[in-house]
Amino acid sequence: MRPKTSFSPDSITFAPFVLVPSTFPHHEFMKVKSLQPAINKLIHRVAHDQKFLKESLMNTVKVDDFTGRLFQIYEAVHSEGISQRISLGLLRSDYFLHSSTGRVLQVEVNTIASSFAGIATQVSLYHRYILSELGAYEHLQYLPDNQALQSLVAGMLKAWEMYGCEQAVILFIVEDITYNICDQRFHEFQIQTQNPKVRVMRCTLTDVGQYGTLDKEKKLYVKGKEVAVIYFRAGYSPEHYHSSLEWDARLLMERSKAIKSPSIQYHLAGTKKVQQELARPNAVERFIENEEDAKAIRALFAGLYSLDMNEEGDESVKMAIKNPHAYILKPQREGGGNNIYGKDVRETLERIGKKKERTGYILMDRIVPPIQKNYIVRPGSAPELNDVISELGIFGTIIGDSEEIFWNQEAGHMLRTKLSTANEGGVAAGVGALDSPYLF
Ligand code: ADP
Ligand code: MG
Ligand code: MG
Repeated sequence: MRPKTSFSPDSITFAPFVLVPSTFPHHEFMKVKSLQPAINKLIHRVAHDQKFLKESLMNTVKVDDFTGRLFQIYEAVHSEGISQRISLGLLRSDYFLHSSTGRVLQVEVNTIASSFAGIATQVSLYHRYILSELGAYEHLQYLPDNQALQSLVAGMLKAWEMYGCEQAVILFIVEDITYNICDQRFHEFQIQTQNPKVRVMRCTLTDVGQYGTLDKEKKLYVKGKEVAVIYFRAGYSPEHYHSSLEWDARLLMERSKAIKSPSIQYHLAGTKKVQQELARPNAVERFIENEEDAKAIRALFAGLYSLDMNEEGDESVKMAIKNPHAYILKPQREGGGNNIYGKDVRETLERIGKKKERTGYILMDRIVPPIQKNYIVRPGSAPELNDVISELGIFGTIIGDSEEIFWNQEAGHMLRTKLSTANEGGVAAGVGALDSPYLF
């Protein structure tokens, strides 16, 4: 990764990792892996249900400016008429094991910039190496194969093929400074490995604002290249939009014929508010007709509570103020570091009081994962044996439009581990470490 404190923009250090793989129950791992296609389908259907998205986000968009602006783009594109009916979903559904039940609970589903498929695939390999070095050969069989990078790239290339123009590129939308640079570039290199004909371009939202144009068929051109697929690794945070130029760029891309990951409706389907609305009785069942799948997905949900300005919301507030350590307060943000924990839950809710700002958040049961011991290896400091907890991510790829799903796959995994005392575990933020599961 690029270190945040480096003098040279070209220097990189290794991403923090744990020395040996953390244990994860085989049964739970296999369960969420096999459920991923149903989760893909759920998100895909939610993204294409205008009524559900609108009703779910109706109050949120009034108080949360960022989600509001995304929603405006959604409405603008829909009233103009969609020029690209196909969406590409590159998803990652995240889980913690809940220690009191031994079952996994879903933290969230990411529909934008689901990262670490590139590096996670490598971590699986170096845990094999480390266990071999330790002479622990008999343990190697418990390390699952991980094809996350190959699988995500297969989804991207399928979308590229469906666009149907050999010269058209895959455009990566990147941040001004990409800290997680290797993970991203591994995707780029893998694209070329799987199909040498496909070119990748990397641009910021600002670049697209400056150099992006649509022709009369709504084909997107950036710096003279036609764009087949747009892969957003930025654009999920208000900080990525410095001015109206970046918002114009997002709108331009959404209006275009390029296949987007995510399309604006997919981005909205990944909001915390939609997650909370999906946890209402019979909401999953509305999208997933297979009863067994619907039931299995529902069983993954932790308690999620609306904070809308009504009696239900008032009840959630009361409950959280009474017992703030049992809940997490979440705004409509991505990328880690935005949630509110512990006594801050109480303080924040008391400060907000009856202000409408409340509807910008949702409340979630705090999941308490089991603690293990592991060495976190970081650049520049000696590894120490620590109490740690792990979050599993299962990738999924899906391609389809409002009527049909053409491609739907589970796409490998990643495991992130952090100190048991840390609230959030962003690897990029310097708190988390990369891991891989040891299945038992
Ligand atoms: P983001 O989209 O910013 O990643 P998340 O909902 O994944 O938001 O929350 C960020 C982190 O906060 C998670 O990776 C996890 O470490 C922690 N977290 C989120 N929800 C819960 C929860 N319900 N219980 C315990 N920890 C949680
Ligand atoms: Mg997220
Ligand atoms: Mg997350």
